[in-house]
Amino acid sequence: MEEREFICVTCPVGCTIRATVEGSALVAVRGQACRRGIAFVQEELTAPTRALTTTVRVDGGTLPLVPVRSAEPLPKGMVRDVAARLRTVRLSAPVAAQQVVLENALGSGVTIVTTRAVPRAKEAC
Ligand code: SF4
Repeated sequence: MEEREFICVTCPVGCTIRATVEGSALVAVRGQACRRGIAFVQEELTAPTRALTTTVRVDGGTLPLVPVRSAEPLPKGMVRDVAARLRTVRLSAPVAAQQVVLENALGSGVTIVTTRAVPRAKEAC
């Protein structure tokens, strides 16, 4: 058995949870303020995931970047690679809110969508 420490990222409180684990089995937990902390540690031990938020370039828009997010959490080990893939994406204005940027990102089954609209910039006369 070993003692491990986790910071729960389920809500902004960010409880520090100390867990006794044996392999991937959770034996005991302390420090969580609610039951979701236990579920978080169990997921961290078996299949950790993270939400991804970043920005993507926009050509011809009123803003040069649009914020994007994963529609669902990604497997933790894929977050860095999906973020790198998104750095290669260029959208053309106008961009709609909730517009699909990347479907099935790197085979994860997760869709990346915009979180706001970016209108087309007016042409200079
Ligand atoms: S244990 Fe509960 S209160 Fe603490 S960070 Fe996780 S979800 Fe928030």
